[in-house]
Amino acid sequence: MQFLQITWLHSLRAGNVHVESITYSLFLKPKIRMPASCESLENFVPFSVSVRENRHGLPRIVLPECIHFATLSTLYKIMAKKTKKATLFHTETHEEKKKRIKAILRALRKDIPQAACALHFRNPFQLLVSTILSAQCTDERVNKVTPELFRAFPTPRDMAEATTEELIDYIRSTGFFNHKAKNLKACCAALVEKHGGNVPSTLEELTALPGVGRKTANVILGNAFGIPGLAVDTHVTRIANLLQFTDTRDAEKIERHLAAIIPKKDWTEASHLFILHGRKTCIARRPRCSECVIARFCPSAQSP
Ligand code: SF4
Repeated sequence: MQFLQITWLHSLRAGNVHVESITYSLFLKPKIRMPASCESLENFVPFSVSVRENRHGLPRIVLPECIHFATLSTLYKIMAKKTKKATLFHTETHEEKKKRIKAILRALRKDIPQAACALHFRNPFQLLVSTILSAQCTDERVNKVTPELFRAFPTPRDMAEATTEELIDYIRSTGFFNHKAKNLKACCAALVEKHGGNVPSTLEELTALPGVGRKTANVILGNAFGIPGLAVDTHVTRIANLLQFTDTRDAEKIERHLAAIIPKKDWTEASHLFILHGRKTCIARRPRCSECVIARFCPSAQSP
């Protein structure tokens, strides 16, 4: 019995991919029990590959030329299931991740040329309020209620002095209105007391405001101040995991993992692209892999 661990994607190259060198290292960290003979290994893999013995008598897998990344990922997923843990995140080198995400962002840019914040706003204060309201609510719904809200309470001071009930009248349809109204009041009071009624432009100051987490703070930085910010929402979390650029649901860690491989100047745009890709194609529970422009770079791509 030989052993194989899923580190072979590490050596993914265009054209003829020889997994030989990988299989050596794989044997050092056994995870999956593989059949010893070439014939049975040939049966094990879910697509046509040639398997030969190398000079040490170990199986050597030669993948066909022009092999599609999605096909590779099929094998990867089957193996990942067996190990109960996806390992591309741990095995792909930093440079390989950087190259892959660069290609992904290039493909997404072509697919979604106008990627931008979907919330309507005229200044940092309006974006801050809209982002707080957008929790568990669609941007479209928020955009419907904010014009009236900003007409009634145009400044942080106006909103801080409003009663919770008055605010609820305007924001009820965005859901969780009690909580959101209290957050808006408290946040605006802090803006007035600590920042002279202005929205601060640093991550530390923004996250110190009531109801403002890292995601909201990064949205404000990136879209209201033009300071690169990687906002990690549910779409970014899902897609970063599917693409195996991370292996956690912890937003702060995901932000760190992505920030390490995406050029800083592209952080804001990358958030938009992932969010819009998540709404349009990589939809939770029913991703449209067959029409996905980044399927060839995605180890989670489903075969049609
Ligand atoms: S739609 Fe499919 S191929 Fe595209 S990113 Fe999502 S899981 Fe990957």
